[in-house]
Amino acid sequence: MGALSPAEVREWGPELVGMGVTALAGAPNVLAHFADEVRQVRLRLPVRAALWSGEPMTQARQDAIRAAFPDVGLWGNYGSIETFVIATNGPACRLGALHLLPGQSLEPDDDGALLTRYGDGWPTPARRLRLGDRIAATGCPCGEPDTFEVLGRADDCFKLSGGMVRVSIVLGNAASLHGVDDVQLVLYRDPVVPAAVVGLRIHYTGPNADAARVREQIVLGYEDLQVVDRHSPQSIVVEHVTELARHPNTDKVLPVIWESAEDLAGMAS
Ligand SMILES: [Zn+2]
Repeated sequence: MGALSPAEVREWGPELVGMGVTALAGAPNVLAHFADEVRQVRLRLPVRAALWSGEPMTQARQDAIRAAFPDVGLWGNYGSIETFVIATNGPACRLGALHLLPGQSLEPDDDGALLTRYGDGWPTPARRLRLGDRIAATGCPCGEPDTFEVLGRADDCFKLSGGMVRVSIVLGNAASLHGVDDVQLVLYRDPVVPAAVVGLRIHYTGPNADAARVREQIVLGYEDLQVVDRHSPQSIVVEHVTELARHPNTDKVLPVIWESAEDLAGMAS
């Protein structure tokens, strides 16, 4: 499913019930928004399975889906357009754990993990194909083997006030704070230095509306941001918002939005 507006959920609700819908598939933020709306309009939809892909399943999104559909099993697919599905996350899995599908190997690498597929019959064969993500081995209580987690994109570093900052660390730290659901970074591109930014704006949703306190915690939790904060505190802004920007075609919440330095006007506050 793509994103439905609240009005559409109300309008199509009886139709969905009448069709006997028991399974959903979509991006996690789309499923979570739909679940919120289903609860709002008190729709009784006996959903047993939700298939997700395309962006991370966060704790907040998972909580929203489970609140509306208590019997739901969550089934996650990890992969890309080039490789199709590489690994999965099942109902008994820890959030973030992924199990490599058989016949493949993954080599962790700071420039992006390398995927190799053995045998014939793959829609996309792969020999040390570089994925854009950094991964690490981990465990999962479900007991399935070949478990890893995605640490972030390989190219997710940016320069801010001379220091290197990693997008995945800022996103992860912010999302782990109490009352913070989803997080999005807006980076203002330095017109002169490639991969450098002149300002970082952190947007977040969730019940915790104390943006000043959230900013303090984000900075405290990441040494490189502390350095930036000492030299140019105005270059880090944290804002509580009701909605994060989504990709107009895929409805995914973009982890990072790049803006030009001119858009920075009015940010210093
Ligand atoms: Zn598992």
